[in-house]
Amino acid sequence: MTTVAAYAAPAAKAPLERTTIERRAVREHDVLIDIKFAGICHSDIHQAQEGWGQATFPMVPGHEIAGVVSEVGPGVTKYQVGDRVGVGCLVDSCRECDNCKAGAEQHCTGGSVGTYNAVGKDGEITYGGYSQKVVVDENFVVRIPDGLSLDVAAPLLCAGITTYSPLKHWGAGPGKKVAVIGLGGLGHMGVKIAHALGAEVTVLSQSLRKKDDGLKLGADHYYATSDPKTFKELAGSFDLILSTVSAPLDFGAYLSLLRTGGALVNVGAPEEPIALNLFSLIGGNKTLAGSAIGGIAETQEMLDFCAEHGFGAEIELINADQINEAYERVQNSDVRYRFVIDTATI
Ligand SMILES: [Zn+2]
Ligand SMILES: [Zn+2]
Repeated sequence: MTTVAAYAAPAAKAPLERTTIERRAVREHDVLIDIKFAGICHSDIHQAQEGWGQATFPMVPGHEIAGVVSEVGPGVTKYQVGDRVGVGCLVDSCRECDNCKAGAEQHCTGGSVGTYNAVGKDGEITYGGYSQKVVVDENFVVRIPDGLSLDVAAPLLCAGITTYSPLKHWGAGPGKKVAVIGLGGLGHMGVKIAHALGAEVTVLSQSLRKKDDGLKLGADHYYATSDPKTFKELAGSFDLILSTVSAPLDFGAYLSLLRTGGALVNVGAPEEPIALNLFSLIGGNKTLAGSAIGGIAETQEMLDFCAEHGFGAEIELINADQINEAYERVQNSDVRYRFVIDTATI
């Protein structure tokens, strides 16, 4: 066991504070990672505040982890000391179910293990990336390509894969018109990735406040959804719409923006159920879909893709003592576009 400095929420809705946690000794297939940077995902806040149901405290959030391997178990074959690596939302799964075998560990039916606020197969609570070290099975570790700095790579481990996976699955690419709803942590990655895939990209945001940023990130067009003219002008124009927002939306209105056969895919979700007139799907053979992160192999593919295209996330680097302030700012949509903790300051 190793004692490691960390930032934890001692109870639901309580401010995070510095503490120490124990990390297990490296087992046969484990790697010990010296964490350098950890992104702040909106789901960290939901969980630290018990917004998604009962949670376990103290909680060390963080599933956007980038660091360097400092020790490997005797059975490790993929990594060596000094390798630059990342860990995302999962640290284990059953590895035997159809989904695991197909590389979709995030849909493991035998029980996947979250990076924090979960119970590992050894019965121990998992603690996330707001800490200086983590021990993870090598099969749930990905390699960060040399071309990517660790700080801008960290948010790719959740925000990157969450948008890359559905964009690939639903065929974003040359000749396709893709809209991204919301320009936040997820949305800004959706724009960058859809643009790099070769699609024509439109941002649909409440206002034009971030228009200059959106165009710089790779969007071809930018519309305010608060303007009713937007829905008239864009009717029937998109092959794919990716919704990254958790605010309640008029889904019927957004479905009207799809071409025949188009799909609206949700990676954000409103807390309340939605009401929908199904004729908005029937007319035009449209699809309303969802998507959850991505598997480990696909996460590696996404990192390689981002490195090849020369981009990471847009970040605001913070010290650990700014985490609580950062949480407030994320809740007020006041971040461009992801807070990343320099874990040396913990
Ligand atoms: Zn996340
Ligand atoms: Zn499984």
